[in-house]
Amino acid sequence: SLPTIYVITPTYARLVQKAELTRLLHTFLHVPQLHWVVVEDSPSPTQLVRNFLAVSGLTYTHLHMLTPKDRKLQEGDPHWLKPRGAEQRNEGLRWLREKAAAAAGGKGLGFESAVIYFADDDNTYSLQLFEEMRYTKKVSVWPVGLVGAMKFERPVVENGKVVRFHTGWRPNRPFPIDMAGFAVSLNLVLANPEAWFDGNAEMGFLESSFLQNLVTMEELEPKADMCTKVLVWHTRTEKPKMKREEALIKQGLGSDPNVEV
Ligand code: UDP
Ligand code: MN
Repeated sequence: SLPTIYVITPTYARLVQKAELTRLLHTFLHVPQLHWVVVEDSPSPTQLVRNFLAVSGLTYTHLHMLTPKDRKLQEGDPHWLKPRGAEQRNEGLRWLREKAAAAAGGKGLGFESAVIYFADDDNTYSLQLFEEMRYTKKVSVWPVGLVGAMKFERPVVENGKVVRFHTGWRPNRPFPIDMAGFAVSLNLVLANPEAWFDGNAEMGFLESSFLQNLVTMEELEPKADMCTKVLVWHTRTEKPKMKREEALIKQGLGSDPNVEV
């Protein structure tokens, strides 16, 4: 059977959340053997996400982990000030490790061959991307479009090996790769229980904080035609304007709050 792709998605309540999750779901429904691990940044699971997943038709796990207040971006902070989604990705990893330990304990066997991908809820994913990552031995890498104030960032491949990174900013970071630009084998994560995301990592070092406990640059497996194809885009969704809504609320004519958006 095909190796399972565990997709870990941090998500948080805001006006565009359901739209983002719908877009993701409709991509993932086309991918065989995909298990969606949705981790809400909330003190408890929300009705919106619970109901959404219940009728999604996808294999999923619904988790939650609230970002501590001191680690959360405040209104007006520049968006790069603190890493987002670190606690939620760690919660997804914790769940996977726990599930694997239970399976191994029960059967005394190794765990299934599987791959982990961290998919933010606002990016755009091509179906081809998932087939590129499916047979990851340790860590697969590929280009990411529309990221880092560039057309794309990518690992540079020579003779089948990653030798450096095409990026406009701090190329000497251990792994100057966006979250959307790599997948890791579940077995590698299980073999390295100290590999987590550091929620206090300096800007741009969140990916490195995790990857440097798992691989070296030489071991990276270049995918997407030796990193020549863009199959994922770091799109960001505009915050919807609510000026008219607010004016109507003042007149008692706001949109019916019982309608879920
Ligand atoms: N996220 C979250 N809590 C927050 C902000 C973001 O769980 O307070 C999630 C978000 O839903 C996304 C991921 O973390 O899946 C990355 O956030 P975002 O897309 O805002 O980051 P950027 O695109 O700016 O890197
Ligand atoms: Mn984003």
